[in-house]
Amino acid sequence: MHPDCKAICEYILKSEAIDPAKYGKHMSSFGEGECRLYAGSVHAANGCVLFIAKILGEKFLWIVEKDAAADSSEFEGKVMTLTGHRIRKAPLSCHNARTLRRWFPFTRPIAFGRTGVSIGLGDRLGIAGPGHLQIIRKTKARPVLAQQSIRELNLTGRSYEDVLDSATWAVFQEGYHQGFGADGDHLKTAAEVRQALDLEFSMITLDCSEQIDNRVGSLAKSEVTAAYLALPQTLRDELEALYLDKAFYAGGQELFFDAMTLRELVLIYHQAIGFIRHIYVDVIKPYQREIDFEVSIDETLTATTPEAHYFVAAELERHGIAAASLAPRFCGEFQKAIDYIGDIGQFKQEFSLHAAIADHFGYRLSIHSGSDKLSVYPIIGEATNERVHVKTAGTSWLEALKVIASKKPALFREIYAFALAHFAEATAYYHVTTDLSKLPDAAAMPDTDLKSILQQPEGRQLLHITYGLVLTAKNADGSYRFRDSLYKTLDVEEQAYADTLFLHIQKHLLSLGVEVFRS
Ligand SMILES: [Zn+2]
Repeated sequence: MHPDCKAICEYILKSEAIDPAKYGKHMSSFGEGECRLYAGSVHAANGCVLFIAKILGEKFLWIVEKDAAADSSEFEGKVMTLTGHRIRKAPLSCHNARTLRRWFPFTRPIAFGRTGVSIGLGDRLGIAGPGHLQIIRKTKARPVLAQQSIRELNLTGRSYEDVLDSATWAVFQEGYHQGFGADGDHLKTAAEVRQALDLEFSMITLDCSEQIDNRVGSLAKSEVTAAYLALPQTLRDELEALYLDKAFYAGGQELFFDAMTLRELVLIYHQAIGFIRHIYVDVIKPYQREIDFEVSIDETLTATTPEAHYFVAAELERHGIAAASLAPRFCGEFQKAIDYIGDIGQFKQEFSLHAAIADHFGYRLSIHSGSDKLSVYPIIGEATNERVHVKTAGTSWLEALKVIASKKPALFREIYAFALAHFAEATAYYHVTTDLSKLPDAAAMPDTDLKSILQQPEGRQLLHITYGLVLTAKNADGSYRFRDSLYKTLDVEEQAYADTLFLHIQKHLLSLGVEVFRS
């Protein structure tokens, strides 16, 4: 046993009461040199005291069986004895994360419901949790720590369980007890939704893009009418009775459904609404627990009109579907990792109407690809009045590269060159309009300037969309080209990484109007 860990365990065994706060305070004096104790991680349960310490570069969960009846055998790991007591050195494994979730309810994801401010943090690497929590705990925003789409899992070679485990370890390490969410993001099938819910994910973002008929917008009126009349009479009668030539109000504005508007909306959305009902009724409801159900209609070719938003929301309500949030597509462009592109005045006008519609139906508006859209954040914050969900686009990855650029410039240059060579491949997954000619030649730059690449839009987009290719690139001998050295550097520099994430997320929350407490 490492002498520092031995000293901590001895201290725990000597102390009369199990008092994690006291231990944490005492033990924060450890932590220099080769053993680092995470003071926030000290917790007591079932006669045991548990804490996380990093020894010689590797983190373990230490479990001290303090009471005579204590039993830590639900955890896996080597057992040693100290003054007659059993002490377990447990790896941060999947098995142990599952056990931790049974022992400590705060390490399980929870639903946040239809009010409040929450932020989806999308931790691509699985090590951003501590930095994210260090800023989140200074605000009243709630964190959705795990937020990955199936596409992102495939691109990074991770699983949903792995993503959830990372969040579990992060909240335990930081001692964050206020609850976190886990979002199965942009799921498209019943099987994907079940996969996430079986793992206790607390949020499902249903991507309806494959059920939304985008072709309708380019049809002639006569074609719209013909397609509409081909739909079942009962469906048309039902919807016409509810909407045709009727006016609805939201945000002080009238939304009117004349025949052509209604026909178009029915053609565009009726399949999507049927799909949403199916997933909600047949897949989500049977789990009989609180789940944040987000309806995503944002991956379309054109912006969602207020009439379309209202129509979808009214149909959901009519069918008893209590969405926690809904993501329309807003005007302008929300490209990954850069600021908003578009007319801010128009955005303000349209966004406030969308916010009013969400208020009317009682769910939260959800903003996708929300990282770096700082020029419209004050508008979003004001119009939603602390009832909003913002998803960052997993830009914790770019913050990680900032750390690499300053600590391992040679590695950063290699990654940058690789990303440039593979940019075209990555655009198969992401829509960006990056002008590569604006990018500097890293070979000619001094080390201290490399970070500036991550401050310009072109550099951010290039490095953001190629993350999957960078993380899975292999050498001829089958070893990872960058992955292992990236993780190793970020592990050694974990506080530097946490600090850069802190600033990155703080900037977003402040722009949204979320207060950051000083203490
Ligand atoms: Zn989206």
